[in-house]
Amino acid sequence: MQIAYLECTRCGEHLSADRPQNTCPKDGGVLFVRYDLASLKGKLRPENLSGRVATMWRYAEVLPDATPVTLGEGFTPMLPGRECPNVYIKDEGLNPTGSFKARGTRLLRASKRTFLCRKTCRWRIAWNAITTARTSR
Ligand SMILES: [Zn+2]
Repeated sequence: MQIAYLECTRCGEHLSADRPQNTCPKDGGVLFVRYDLASLKGKLRPENLSGRVATMWRYAEVLPDATPVTLGEGFTPMLPGRECPNVYIKDEGLNPTGSFKARGTRLLRASKRTFLCRKTCRWRIAWNAITTARTSR
């Protein structure tokens, strides 16, 4: 999916997503990625999902444009809670890293070529792997 623009969480400024950036140049606000979800209306239906591979790339239409790279992240089960069976808990321990961070790491890795941010992305992937290892103990 094409990124429509980046939006500053402080001032609401819309910025181009053509170059890698994660903070607003005016006020340092964190940037949210905004997608053109309206373009999917009427095109993405539940029946389109059946038969697709059971990874996070099953939902490619709502992920940034990138060549899928996967170790099987995503598609983890929702399990009913023991004490509150009507509350469901996502079992992210079944991801390759045993953490929800596997999705972000894989998406960042796949997007690396798209955004040509080798140095920054490499650092972030390494940081994500370190924090995943620390929190997974
Ligand atoms: Zn701003």
